[in-house]
Amino acid sequence: MSICLTDEVTNLSFGQQMAAIPGPSIIPHRVLEAMARPMTDLYNGPIVEASNEIRAALPEVAGTSGDVFIVTSNGHGAWQMATSNTLAKGDKVLVLESGQFAAVWGRYTAVSEVDVEVLPGTFRDPVDPVAVADRLAADTEKEIKAVLCVHVDTASSVRNDIPALRAAIDSADHPALFMVDCIASMGCEEFRMDEWGVDIAIAGCQKGLMVPPGIAFVWASKKALAAHAGADMRVGYFDWAERLSAKSQYHYYAGTPPLAHLFGFREALRIVEEEGGWPRVWERHTALATGVRAAVDAWAHPEGIEFNITDAAHRANCVTTIRTNSVDPELFRARCEQQAGLVLGLGIADVSGFRLAHMGHLNPPMLLGAIGTIEAVLHSLGAPVSGSGAAAAAAALGEAIGQ
Ligand SMILES: *Cc1c(COP(=O)(O)O)cnc(C)c1O
Repeated sequence: MSICLTDEVTNLSFGQQMAAIPGPSIIPHRVLEAMARPMTDLYNGPIVEASNEIRAALPEVAGTSGDVFIVTSNGHGAWQMATSNTLAKGDKVLVLESGQFAAVWGRYTAVSEVDVEVLPGTFRDPVDPVAVADRLAADTEKEIKAVLCVHVDTASSVRNDIPALRAAIDSADHPALFMVDCIASMGCEEFRMDEWGVDIAIAGCQKGLMVPPGIAFVWASKKALAAHAGADMRVGYFDWAERLSAKSQYHYYAGTPPLAHLFGFREALRIVEEEGGWPRVWERHTALATGVRAAVDAWAHPEGIEFNITDAAHRANCVTTIRTNSVDPELFRARCEQQAGLVLGLGIADVSGFRLAHMGHLNPPMLLGAIGTIEAVLHSLGAPVSGSGAAAAAAALGEAIGQ
C-alpha cells in the first residue's frame, strides 16, 4: 500500500531524486551513455569486442576459473538456468532460509517437479551451519542433490557465512551441489567461488554491478557442469550444452545479444578497473556500510527504529533492513520520497520497516545525503532517536577516509 500525501505538504524534493533501493541501484552516467548508442552489427565489430572483454573479466568477479554464462534476463532467469541445467525431476533440494529470497528460489524450482525442502531459519539471523550439517548428516541415502542459499538476503539484509556453510556440507561428507544466489552481493561483498567451494554462483547486473536490469550471470564449477549430463529439466533457451558449443556469439547468447546492456556493463567494468579492482570496491562498500551501521546504532531506540539483523557480524555491506517499531513505515517512506526526494526500499516479507541500499555506484555525499534525509524525516515525525545518525555516520566515514 502506498500513501499519497496531499499537495499542501512542504515539498523539498525538487532536486535530483535518489533511489536508495536494493536494486535497481544507482547507475553511473558513463554506463547510461555507453548504452545510448545506435545498434551495431550483432555478429562482428564493437559488440564482439565488448562481449569478449566482458567474458574475460567475469570469472574474476566471482573468484573462479570456471565457466560463466550470460543470460538476457533478470535474476529469476538465472535461478532457472542454474537449476534446469543441473537437476532432474524428482530430485530433492535443500533450501536454506534466512529471509525471503532462497525460499522464493525454492518455490520457482518446485514448479519443475523438484522436491524442495526448506530448512527453516529466522528473519533476523543467518543460516545456522550446525543445522545444515545435521540435516545433511541425516541424509544417509544422499537424496539431496543441491543446497540452495543466498549470500546476502535482500529482504532481511543478512549476510550468510558461505565458507562456514561449505564446511557444514563437507562435515557431513555430502555430495550435494552448493548453489549460492549472489544477486544482491556480487560486486559489493568479497566472494571467492573456487576457494569457498561454491558450485554455482548467480548474479544480476542491476545491483552491485551497476547496469540497468536485463542481464544476469551464472558461474558454474566443473562439478556443476558434470551434473548437466544427468539433468532432465533442460530448456533450450537456458541450455548450457547449446551455449558451450556455440560457434558464434549469437548462439552463446541463445539469440540476439543484449547489445546495449553489454556496452553498459563493459563501461561498469572499466569503472571498477579505475577504482583499482574488486577488492577496492569491496573495501569501499565495507567503509560505507560502517557509516550506515554507525547511523542506525545512533538512532536505535526501544520505541523508535532498530536493526533487523541482530548480530552485527552478519549485517550485509550492500543493504540494511531497519525495523520501525512505533513509526508508520508507509508514512515514513512516503515522506522521504514525496517531500524529500529519497526513495527507500519497502520492508518486505516479515518486516515492518524499510531498507536502505548501499550498493554499487555510491560515495559519501550520496550516502550521507540519504542518511541525513532519513534523520530529517524521522525528526519530522517526532520519532524517538537516541542520537544523531548523520553525525555518527560522518564520524565513521571520516575515520575510514583518514586511514
Ligand atoms: C534482487 C534479488 C533477486 C531477484 O532478482 P530479479 O533480478 O528481480 O529477478 C533474487 N535474489 C536476491 C538475493 C536479490 O537481491
